[in-house]
Amino acid sequence: MIEFTPHSMPKETGWIEVIAGCMFSGKTEELIRRLRRAQIAKQNVKIFKPKIDLRFSHTSIVSHSEQSLPSLLVTDAKEILSLSNDAKVVGIDEAQFFSQELVSICNQLANDGKRVIVAGLDQDYQGIPFEPMPQLLAIAEYITKTLAICVACGNPADKTQRKTTSAERVVVGAADIYEARCRKCHYIPKEN
Ligand code: ZN
Repeated sequence: MIEFTPHSMPKETGWIEVIAGCMFSGKTEELIRRLRRAQIAKQNVKIFKPKIDLRFSHTSIVSHSEQSLPSLLVTDAKEILSLSNDAKVVGIDEAQFFSQELVSICNQLANDGKRVIVAGLDQDYQGIPFEPMPQLLAIAEYITKTLAICVACGNPADKTQRKTTSAERVVVGAADIYEARCRKCHYIPKEN
């Protein structure tokens, strides 16, 4: 886990932190923890999430452990630029639901001197890298991979198991249709 202290933070520049992992691995919780600390330090923090994710709340990022912070809903990654003008720290949740354009937007924000913290699913339910996360991981200065616990065997888990047979890449849900699984226990559900 990266512990940014006032002495270890990069100076006079922005940067990108990516928090990547499967569902139930604590990504949003870690994002909230970092953003809270920035708020305590009285830094101007702006938080965004894509409009597709309407779980739990329309105006907050919420972790599965029910921590939350107010956020702005955007349909297009471009909106983040204009809404972050006065921000020192920009948090983005559910990055996998944004278009590829999020990559250049994050670069622009960081080049502009902002600390950008992005959380997202790094693989889809089939274990395939979930764009734009691979590209975000490549351009980030700091990467944290969060692991969950496999509900089948107790191993560290980095795969999201879908419990329905839908073949859509995006099916919004939580513990009702997803669980964390390790490499050994994860499988791709077959349509009947
Ligand atoms: Zn397992």
